[in-house]
Amino acid sequence: MMEKTVQYPVMEAFYTLQGEGANAGIPAFFIRLAGCDVGCHWCDVKESWDASLHPLRAVEDLLSDALQYPARNIVITGGEPCMHDLSPLCNALKNAGFNIWLETSGSSPISGKFDWICLSPKKFKKPLNESYAMADELKVVVFHKSDLTWAEQEAARVRPSCAFFLQPEWERRKEIEPLLTAYIMQHPRWRMSVQTHKYLGIP
Ligand code: SF4
Repeated sequence: MMEKTVQYPVMEAFYTLQGEGANAGIPAFFIRLAGCDVGCHWCDVKESWDASLHPLRAVEDLLSDALQYPARNIVITGGEPCMHDLSPLCNALKNAGFNIWLETSGSSPISGKFDWICLSPKKFKKPLNESYAMADELKVVVFHKSDLTWAEQEAARVRPSCAFFLQPEWERRKEIEPLLTAYIMQHPRWRMSVQTHKYLGIP
């Protein structure tokens, strides 16, 4: 009963295709929670950082929005969603039959139960040790060639069954895409993640 009163600061919630990573191309309802203390200089959702600028929305309100659409996949993203206790939200979504996917930097404790956890480590606030063991997917955003060394160090910390992705930072894609293409051909455990939603012009 407690769960009915739980609220989260929400920057936006929308139905689209997951654009990147292992679930790219699959329709999903996105819940972008506000609040982030990581501070990536290339962040494309800086307006999410200050949670106090965004309205609080109740779990049942988010659930009823998500139920309007035919797909039963939810992406919980941010901001850094793990700054919040995600258990009540996950419980409500799971009871309604949703697959729940998380996008996190892993820098705050991961709460709640997920069907897929995408760990996207950031140099600006490193993942907690426990986050590595929970990741189903490692997605490293590459801004500079030197990030590949760091990506390999991060890859050594996750489970071998993890899916390994390198993703060009969007504003640097012209330089980084060919670099990653060549790198992945030589290091085939990695896969390329491109932000297909940006190429498609969808949210
Ligand atoms: Fe932006 Fe995500 Fe980095 Fe936070 S963790 S600053 S939301 S890219």
